[in-house]
Amino acid sequence: MKKKEIKDLISRMTLEEKASLCSGQDFWHTKEVARLGVPDFMVSDGPHGLRKQNLEADHMGINESIKAVCFPAGCALAASFDRTLLRNVGEVLGNECQAEDVGVILGPAVNIKRSPLCGRNFEYYSEDPYVATELAGAFIDGVQSKNVGVSIKHFVANNQETRRMTSSSEVDERTLREIYLAAFEGAIKNHKPWTVMCSYNKINGTYAAENKKFLTDVLRNEWGFDGFVVSDWGAVNDRVADLKAGMELQMPAVDGTTDKEIVAAVREGRVEEAVVDQAVERMLTILYRYKENREETAVFDLEADHRKAYEVAKETIVLLKNEGVLPLKETAKVAFIGKYAKDPRYQGGGSSHINSFRVTSALECVEGKETVVYAQGYDDKEDVVDEALLNEAVKTAKEAEVAVIFAGLPDAFESEGFDRNHMRMPQCQNHLIEEVAKVQENVVVVLHNGSPIEMPWISKVKGVVEAYLGGQAIGAAVCDILYGKANPCGKLAETFPIKLEDNPSYLYYIGEKDRVEYREGVFVGYRYYDTKNQEVLFPFGHGLSYTTYSYGNLQLDKQSMKDTEELKVSVDITNTGAMEGKEIVQLYVAKKEKGEIIRPAKELRGFEKVFLAPGETKTVSFTLSKRAFAYYNMQMQDWYVESGTYEILIGKSVEDIVLAGEVGVASTQKYQIHVTMDTPVIDLLEDEEAMEIIRQEFQLESIYDIMKDPDAEEGEASAAAISNEMLVAMIDYLPFRGVASFSGGRITYEMVQKAIDRINQKELIGQ
Ligand code: BGC
Repeated sequence: MKKKEIKDLISRMTLEEKASLCSGQDFWHTKEVARLGVPDFMVSDGPHGLRKQNLEADHMGINESIKAVCFPAGCALAASFDRTLLRNVGEVLGNECQAEDVGVILGPAVNIKRSPLCGRNFEYYSEDPYVATELAGAFIDGVQSKNVGVSIKHFVANNQETRRMTSSSEVDERTLREIYLAAFEGAIKNHKPWTVMCSYNKINGTYAAENKKFLTDVLRNEWGFDGFVVSDWGAVNDRVADLKAGMELQMPAVDGTTDKEIVAAVREGRVEEAVVDQAVERMLTILYRYKENREETAVFDLEADHRKAYEVAKETIVLLKNEGVLPLKETAKVAFIGKYAKDPRYQGGGSSHINSFRVTSALECVEGKETVVYAQGYDDKEDVVDEALLNEAVKTAKEAEVAVIFAGLPDAFESEGFDRNHMRMPQCQNHLIEEVAKVQENVVVVLHNGSPIEMPWISKVKGVVEAYLGGQAIGAAVCDILYGKANPCGKLAETFPIKLEDNPSYLYYIGEKDRVEYREGVFVGYRYYDTKNQEVLFPFGHGLSYTTYSYGNLQLDKQSMKDTEELKVSVDITNTGAMEGKEIVQLYVAKKEKGEIIRPAKELRGFEKVFLAPGETKTVSFTLSKRAFAYYNMQMQDWYVESGTYEILIGKSVEDIVLAGEVGVASTQKYQIHVTMDTPVIDLLEDEEAMEIIRQEFQLESIYDIMKDPDAEEGEASAAAISNEMLVAMIDYLPFRGVASFSGGRITYEMVQKAIDRINQKELIGQ
């Protein structure tokens, strides 16, 4: 429907009808306006499968949804670092939505993994906003190519489950911009999601749902978002305030009670009717975009989508450690140990829980293979060592050539709704691994978990395969990796610290009562570990392969540039091994010299996944623009590039940098420094014009002459207790008023004020 037609339709609605469209009909539908033929439409969870509830509805995954296909969860999808893959998953889900008449799927979930403890980390992509926003963008393109909308969520700074409906995330502006908003920014600006879901929490004291700064100023005015904002389920606190802030649709239904509040607010002049009109226009624009592009013939083919879930899962598995034990030989006698070999944990609990029509276990995939034996080893219902299961497992492992232990986190350890309070696996599983390792030197651990764990046994095992929560076909994908039918090609989109206490948010995570301060600032994940040179278990970007890759021929198309220009970078990657594979090439940018601001040692600014046959070489290219070098400058309230030299680092992981180049970047942006009596001299030293004014006004050759006695002989000052270095430092850090205080009366406060006034009159200074 054209804009004009929608406006015309709205003009024919009563205020009550318009207000009625601002909240749901039930748990999953919007309301219809039958009198004018406006239909309802349905939304459903996501994000890694379709959770469509036809009967009893809920937002916690309690009641059954239709039989569907569970794809790998966000944690696993992100490990693929594969935009095409994410797009494909989106296309499949979009098609499933069309087949089931669902207009919007509630995902992707892009919140930053601030701590390994967040109960919902399994749904989220990364600790790095660039990874999160790029992959979300690809997913959005996929879903929306089927004329179904997404709801990118949870906007914003929802990084814990504890008190998620009342807690205030206290985050400074630079951190918000560089980390938490950035996870949404690229996806929203470049991929135009139809809807955005605001989060439950407050941000700096104001609920996300009523936060005009984020819902209107940032989202719409700065980023150009043109869809509608839906509340997270039950996130509404003050409906009228929410509407004014830019939150169009309240979900789930509250029996029209808040619609009445909106009507009353308009009647009493507390909100203009135009605000309601605008909300309805945004809603209807999306509704008709879906309705008018309905694909009635779409089919939800469970079998076909299960096969896709298997293909996708293979691309997400990360080989963390391999001391020659993998791939397994077909003929080797292998013990599959652990409950998850038979009954994998492949998805998380809560609103994303899919009613999988089939689950493939690893054990099922080796059925009939005489070389493989199985022992359960542990149960995951309770964290207690079952001696009988343990003994059987140890015996089975001892008699085999290799023991593959399927371990991980049980549902009770991680889920939506609560956070973990430690980073350990169940003790009974750790114990099992230790005991098996005592009798078997070839131990491989396959992990099913949604977030990092501590691995106290790491030195005792030869292989670790991170299968994450890999969806309903994960068992088959794991077998392919174990037996070398597929080459592992995932890498970690998050750091695995050695222990929880190493994590930068450790001291502040969860916060105090309803307030959680993000005191680690921009130093989230590898930005902290890498800058601090902190040893980790597995670094961000790490992942092994059965083949080897060599990197060479790094080319930068410029040696120096302005921040308005683009830098083209290319690098050649060669598969030097015997097996075809896919390598994830990472580009990090680092400011070479220490600059004015505190910033991470390096930051990921590009990644590409490239397929290579044995012996093949391909050139991978990146284009870097201003944002790759910039930080968020608080004074300017804008992105700003400090002039200087930047290193362009190509890595296999954040710790394994293999090639480096350099480029000089000059800022074209100037910003006003308002000089006062308190401004330290050092802040002006680089500004030639300011220094000239100072020289003129104070009649000094150099600012460093302030403290020198004009009658003293050269070198006399340094003969005393003052070294030249000390003199320089003292002047550098001297506030302007100090120029008068220390000049022995030669320079008066009036002269200082005059110089300040002249400097402040200059149009723009500082760079
Ligand atoms: C979750 C959302 C979900 C919604 C609907 C909420 O509790 O936070 O992610 O989409 O419920 O189930």
